[in-house]
Amino acid sequence: MSTAATTDALKDARIAVLGYGSQGSAHAKNLRDSGLDVVVGLRPGGASWPKAEADGFVVKSPAEAVADADLIAVLTPDMVQPTLYTESIEQQAKPGAALLFAHGFNVHFGEIKPRDDLDVILVAPKGPGALVRREFERGHGVPCLYAVHHDATGHALDKALAYAAGLGGARALLIETDFKEETETDLFGEQAVLCGGATELVQKGFEVLTEAGYKPEVAYYEVMHELKLIVDLFYEGGIARMLEFISETAQYGDYVSGPRVIDDSTKARMKDVLKDIQDGTFARNWTAEYKAGLPNYKKFKQADLEHPVEKVGAKLRSRMTWLQPKDDAEPMKKAG
Ligand code: NAD
Ligand code: MG
Repeated sequence: MSTAATTDALKDARIAVLGYGSQGSAHAKNLRDSGLDVVVGLRPGGASWPKAEADGFVVKSPAEAVADADLIAVLTPDMVQPTLYTESIEQQAKPGAALLFAHGFNVHFGEIKPRDDLDVILVAPKGPGALVRREFERGHGVPCLYAVHHDATGHALDKALAYAAGLGGARALLIETDFKEETETDLFGEQAVLCGGATELVQKGFEVLTEAGYKPEVAYYEVMHELKLIVDLFYEGGIARMLEFISETAQYGDYVSGPRVIDDSTKARMKDVLKDIQDGTFARNWTAEYKAGLPNYKKFKQADLEHPVEKVGAKLRSRMTWLQPKDDAEPMKKAG
């Protein structure tokens, strides 16, 4: 663990940030505000180009941005990174440049095999881009994992720590990891608990209540809306703080009924999910799904969007105008 990192190792470096989405826009802005030299690399004609220009960045095609960069931050969606690497980085990157990722997926699963002379590093903020930016602006930071996959120059670690410091992560907490651990735990967290697990828990809870004849509006507040209050308490002070704030009745129900819903058989299935991640089954399936044009992904997504909890939720949230998403609270693509 380290919190004393500074941006020194990158003070004379040119940083190319490829991608200007959730992470890319936050990284580019935080690094610039930390005094570092940032250019943004994007597809000409893409939707992000005018946004990055409006934010005052020099924007170039990925290949041009990479050509004179000392550090290349690969912040496009994971599935486009292998092609981006072969088309715009492999031939163009300067000898001894650093290739930085915010998620280890492509390097860990061998979809990208970086040139030997490149430092290959990881800085993964444990939060969505909007939070990485917002905390930085408040003078704080989001905790970051960092890792070195390949140290070609002898300075790979310094570069990773300097980048994490530039993001504001060093104001919070920097935790050393490796590409395998970051990739596998990140995928497991989003699949079993954060995105997959939480969504299914809410949907099934809603179905049980409405199928038993209770009003969808009442069910919505019980299984979706109030989840935020509970999760905020987890975030601030763990389970102990949550228990402090709920009634004795809620506590007793938690103790006796929670384990009836999520039990050792659930845990065994979580282990299956982890096994598929570890042995590469998930990565293979996801890559094949992406290459096939996302047929199942689109179907699953449509089903989530059409779930009755979404219908009643949209209606109720439109009445709670104070909940309307703000610009700086962009939807999270993932929680990890
Ligand atoms: P995103 O989908 O928000 O942004 C993608 C950006 O890449 C957009 O600016 C888009 O215009 C650009 N882009 C798309 N295709 C491109 C192409 N072919 N060439 C060049 N640019 C292209 O992505 P994101 O969610 O910020 O994810 C970026 C990386 O950060 C991923 O590796 C992801 O796993 C990782 N990560 C994301 C989060 C998160 O909360 N979103 C958290 C930690 C790590
Ligand atoms: Mg689902």
